[in-house]
Amino acid sequence: VFNFAAGPATLPECVIRKAQAELVNYRGSGMSIMEMSHRGKEFDGVIKKAEADLRALLGISDEYAVLFLQGGGTTQFAAVPLNLCTPEDAADYLVTGSWGDKAYKEAQKYCKANLIWTGKHEKYTKIPAFDQIQQNPDAKYLHICANETIHGVEFKDYPVPAGKDAVLVADMSSNFCSKPVDVSTFGMIYAGAQKNVGPSGVTIVIVRKDLLGKAQPITPVMLDLKVQADSASLYNTPPCLAIYICGLVFEDLLEQGGLAEVEKKNVHKAGILYDAIDGSGGFYVCPVEKSVRSFMNVPFTLTKSDLEKKFIEEAAKEGMVQLKGHRSVGGVRASIYNAMPLAGVEKLVAFMKDFQARHP
Ligand code: PLP
Repeated sequence: VFNFAAGPATLPECVIRKAQAELVNYRGSGMSIMEMSHRGKEFDGVIKKAEADLRALLGISDEYAVLFLQGGGTTQFAAVPLNLCTPEDAADYLVTGSWGDKAYKEAQKYCKANLIWTGKHEKYTKIPAFDQIQQNPDAKYLHICANETIHGVEFKDYPVPAGKDAVLVADMSSNFCSKPVDVSTFGMIYAGAQKNVGPSGVTIVIVRKDLLGKAQPITPVMLDLKVQADSASLYNTPPCLAIYICGLVFEDLLEQGGLAEVEKKNVHKAGILYDAIDGSGGFYVCPVEKSVRSFMNVPFTLTKSDLEKKFIEEAAKEGMVQLKGHRSVGGVRASIYNAMPLAGVEKLVAFMKDFQARHP
């Protein structure tokens, strides 16, 4: 089937097959990678290679720590303020969807979080012009969600934090490694792996080293990024199997020619799908402003909304599964991450045209 799930999501078939081939006997060791000590030489090789390949993919300098953690993107909603702020410090949140809103609400527990802009009243379909947002000059950081998975809103460029020492922090859970990113413009990037780069269970954090070491005293040790960086993500038992699979995905992305090549494919796939929606004469509608439409998650509705259930069911019968929109917004959502082949998008577009023709 073609799996359009938002996450956990489809992974490259070559990665799954390689993992399958090595699952019982990892490279002649006689053990599975999930049966080995995380401090043994095999796993040491796995995590070091995964980090090196990710550094190569994103051009990450030594000024940044690369961490493989647990707890999902959601845990980082708390770890960000706990590591970058005192309880009295201010932090700015630019909210373009419900994930950014969750991050903002969590941060309110640990610092003076300011909501400097929210798209909630326009049903999260926009990103404001950066010169129209009022940042707080004292803010320690400006937080954005680079791609809102539910609403399909994606930053195409990034705001510059206004505060003197402020840094930009981004939740990249749903567009991580889908395109090149200049990491040096961020203080911190975090991403749950389960959309573009692996299975659920591992969260990748890229953080500038000079920001570390000032965690609030109440910070649980597992959320203290300095502790995690100093122990190279091995403070406790890491999610070994998930990190191993991420490593295979990074290898595959490098073999594809790196993120510039990956981006070209993603732009092409998304273009075909948005053209089909916009060219349907209003049968299908994507509410998101064109300039900020996500290349990863494409939400749309059917103007004849009573047909939506039928659309999703018939698509599933034809092998295009998990197209239901998020429970909070309904409609249809096609998540077309790196691992979704062009053929999957072409098949969906052909189905959309056929479905429309059958329901004039
Ligand atoms: N941030 C974004 C953009 C997401 O899409 C999600 C989950 O879908 C999360 C955060 C939460 O991630 P997790 O379930 O890994 O905590």
